[in-house]
Amino acid sequence: MLDIKGLKVKLEEEDKQILKGVDLHVEAGKVHAIMGPNGSGKSTLSYVLSGREGYEVTEGSASLLGEDILDMEPEERAAAGLFLAFQYPVEIPGVGNMTFLRTALNSQRKARGQEEISSADFLKLIREKAKNLQIEPEMLKRAVNVGFSGGEKKRNEILQMAVLEPKMCILDETDSGLDVDAMKLVSDGVNALRDEGRGFLVITHYQRLLNHIKPDVVHIMSDGRIVKTGGPELALEVEENGYGDILNEVA
Ligand code: ADP
Ligand code: MG
Ligand code: MG
Repeated sequence: MLDIKGLKVKLEEEDKQILKGVDLHVEAGKVHAIMGPNGSGKSTLSYVLSGREGYEVTEGSASLLGEDILDMEPEERAAAGLFLAFQYPVEIPGVGNMTFLRTALNSQRKARGQEEISSADFLKLIREKAKNLQIEPEMLKRAVNVGFSGGEKKRNEILQMAVLEPKMCILDETDSGLDVDAMKLVSDGVNALRDEGRGFLVITHYQRLLNHIKPDVVHIMSDGRIVKTGGPELALEVEENGYGDILNEVA
């Protein structure tokens, strides 16, 4: 599904190397988690994969379903099936949430040679998905994320994901700022999308999210590299002992 080899990334503006050789292979149907201390490069990895500007890939490759994505525009990556739920969801004043979702869905359908979804079908789809995430119809009418609480923004990210049905879903600290109930809603939303044909990369600081979204593989990232890979027990080890022991061991 997602194949990253020897990925090295620096900032465009500064001579600062952030990713120092990342190797990662996410299979279809699997959930991979990336944990790691603050500043280790987790968000940078998700930004570079989704095509955010400001970063320069100096070495390595990244492909989605066998297609090189690093030369694609962000919207081409989305059409190819990549989705990123942001750590800090962006507010878009003046753009209605519903209009945003419908435009995103239709541009993706267009890129895939499919017809636009009808108004009636879209309404039906969005109502059902929003209901599952306990998103009020009123929130669908407001501008994207404007005035939403932290938890509402995160649920709105999952709504986008549920509507677009991407192949490869990257969630960057979707659990941060969520209370227990919101975390359950978000996790249920993610779990409902788990599927043989879909891969997940769940970036998180804390093990607690992984009690709800059970990962198949857990990676530890530190200083721009994946330094350890294991099963779900690795997340429990972090929960119990912090990153110190693991980082000392690999050092
Ligand atoms: P994480 O998500 O693991 O907390 P980040 O990917 O956000 O880590 O950041 C990795 C490192 O790169 C940090 O040291 C951060 O300060 C630095 N960094 C990322 N983006 C920028 C930027 N645009 N300008 C300056 N430093 C940056
Ligand atoms: Mg961080
Ligand atoms: Mg981050």
